[in-house]
Amino acid sequence: MHRKFALIVITLLSLSACSNDEVEVDNYDSARDYFTFANTDQFVTEHLALDLTADFDAEELRGFAMLTMRRLDGAATEVILDTRDLTITSVAVLQSGNSLSADFRSGEAHDSLGTPLFISVPSDIGEQFDLMIEYNTSPKSTALQWLPPELTAGGKHPLMFSQSQAVHARSWVPLQDTPAIRITYEATVRTPESLLAVMSANNDPLTPRTGEYHFDMPQPIPSYLLAISVGNLYFAPLGEDTGVYTEPELLDASVYEFADTQAMLELAEKMYGPYEWGRYDLLVLPPSFPYGGMENPRLSFITPSLLAGDRSLVSVIAHELAHSWSGNLVTNATWRDGWLNEGMTSYFESRLMEVIYDVKRVDEERVLMYRELLLDLEEVPEHMQALAPRLDDTTSEDFQGGIHYSKGQLFLEYLEKAFGREAFDEFLTSYFKEFAFGTITTEQFLDYLEANLLSQEGSPVTREQAEQWTYQPGLPEGTPIPQSENLDSAEALAIAWAEEKVDLAEIPFAEYSPQAKIHFINSLPADLAFEKLAELDEGLGLSETQNAEIGRTWFIQVATRRYTDAYEHMEVHLSRFGRGRLIAPVYRALAMNGEDLELASEIFARARGAYHPLTAAWIEGGLNRAAN
Ligand SMILES: [Zn+2]
Repeated sequence: MHRKFALIVITLLSLSACSNDEVEVDNYDSARDYFTFANTDQFVTEHLALDLTADFDAEELRGFAMLTMRRLDGAATEVILDTRDLTITSVAVLQSGNSLSADFRSGEAHDSLGTPLFISVPSDIGEQFDLMIEYNTSPKSTALQWLPPELTAGGKHPLMFSQSQAVHARSWVPLQDTPAIRITYEATVRTPESLLAVMSANNDPLTPRTGEYHFDMPQPIPSYLLAISVGNLYFAPLGEDTGVYTEPELLDASVYEFADTQAMLELAEKMYGPYEWGRYDLLVLPPSFPYGGMENPRLSFITPSLLAGDRSLVSVIAHELAHSWSGNLVTNATWRDGWLNEGMTSYFESRLMEVIYDVKRVDEERVLMYRELLLDLEEVPEHMQALAPRLDDTTSEDFQGGIHYSKGQLFLEYLEKAFGREAFDEFLTSYFKEFAFGTITTEQFLDYLEANLLSQEGSPVTREQAEQWTYQPGLPEGTPIPQSENLDSAEALAIAWAEEKVDLAEIPFAEYSPQAKIHFINSLPADLAFEKLAELDEGLGLSETQNAEIGRTWFIQVATRRYTDAYEHMEVHLSRFGRGRLIAPVYRALAMNGEDLELASEIFARARGAYHPLTAAWIEGGLNRAAN
C-alpha cells in the first residue's frame, strides 16, 4: 500500500504491555498470524472459484465461493474460515463428484477480526475436497465501497471497488484470510450490462462489455491481494505490457500522468529479476479510494489524487509496481512483518525513481519521508517503533504510522551503504528468487541476511546491529540521514522570508518542485503572522492548488495555526478526497488545535458519505479520541 498511512494498523494492530528490554516470558509466538481464525495447521486452501453477481441496488455481492481444500491433519474434522458481515446461506462438501450438505455455524463476532465460520467435514473426507459456500455480502462490508453515480468522475454510472488489505477480504469472500496461505483463483462476475468488471487477475484489454466476465489468476496470491472493481471503466495502453483502466473522463489525464509506467516496469526487471505476473495495468479509481495505491497483482488500484498534471506524484506508481516483487512475490508471513513488504518496497521505489527521474528529486522525497518519520517517532509508543513489533489480536487504537515504510527504507539504505550498492542489489535479487511465491518472517529475513552478507569476513554490520533495527525503538546509530541541497535552500528562504529578510517575489518558486514547496511551507515558524500566510496563499495559490500533496501540507498548517481565512478551501479539500493520507492529518490538526474539534466533527458529518468505510471509521476513531 502507499503510503505512510497505515489504516491496516488501526483496525488490526495492537500490542501487549511488554517493553523491549523485558524478557518475554509469555507465549507470544512471533511466527503466528494473530489476525485470522483459520486453522491453517489443519487445513489449507489451494484454489478459490468465485461466481458472483454485483447488485448495485442492494449494494451486495452474492453467489458462491468454492474453496479447494487440503487436509493436513488426518484427524481434523472442522474447517474454520474468516468472515465479516457475510450471510452464509448454505455449505456443501464436494468430493469426487458427490455433494454433501455440511453443518456449519458462525462463532462470536470480534471487533477487528470479524466472525469465524465453523464447517464440519466427514472424518473420512480424505486429503483433498471442495467446500461450496453460498453467501452474500452486506452493504456494511469493510472492503467494498458502492459509489452512487454522483461520486464518480462521469456522474452517470455507479462504481464499486474493493480494498482487501489487511483483513478485509473476509468481508467479501469467506476464506482463510491470512498472508501465510497462497491461493490461485478463478471468477465469474455478473454486472449490469453497461459496466465492466476487473480483478487482480488476467484482465483482457479487449474484453467485450457483456455483463458477464471471467477471470483466472494462475499465480498463487495471499488473500489480501484479492481485488475487484465494477464500473464504467475503459482501457488505454501505456506501453506494450502496461495500460490504464479508468472512467473515460479520467483516461487522457491518466495516460499523460502515468506515461512512464512501461519504462519503470522494464527497469525494475533489469534491477531485480523477471516480472512474474504477465501484464501490469493501473486502475484509477474515484477520489474516495482510501490509499495512494494498492498493489493488487496485475492491476494496481490508484487514487486520482496523483493526477497533478505534471507527473510529480508518480512515486506512488513506482511503489505499487515495486510491490510486484516485495510483497506480492515475497510476502510478509504475518502483519507484524509488514516492514518486509512496505520498507523494502519504499527502498525499491526510490531506486526506480532515481533512474527514471533523477537523484536530486528522490533526495527531496527522502528528506520529506524522514521528516514524517521523525514526527511519527514522537507519536508512536516506543514498543511499536521496532520494525517488527509485537502484535496480537487485542484491539488497540495504537498504530505504527509510517514507521514500517520509512524506517524499513532507511534500514535497507543503511545496508546498501555498508555493503555497497552492487553487492546489496545482488543480495536482493537472490532474495526475491529464493523466496518467490512464498512468505517470510522477520527472523527468516535476518537468517538469510546473515547467511549471505553479515557472515562475510570483515562484514561491516553484525547481526546484533541488524536486530537493533528490527526489534528496538527509535533509529539506531549510523542511520543514513537524507540530505537535499534544494530543500535546505527552500528551508533557509522560508525562514528569511518569515523574518522579512527577503520578499516573496525574490524566491524562485517557479523552479521549485512540489516537494520543495512542501518543505518551504513546513519550514515556516509557528508564530508567523496571518498577513504573511495570506501573502503566501495568494502568491502561490495554495488554497486552490491542484497538487494534492501541497494541499495536504498547506491545510495541515491552516488547521494547526487556525488560519480561518482558508477554512472554506480546507473543507473543499476534505470533501474532494477520501484518501486517508490527504485528509486524516488535517482533521487531526483541526481536532487538536484547541478550538475546532466541533468544526472537525461537523465537516466530517458533511463529508463522510463520500468516504470509504475504512477511512470513515478511522477518522471517526481519531475524532472520538480527541474528544476524550
Ligand atoms: Zn506499499
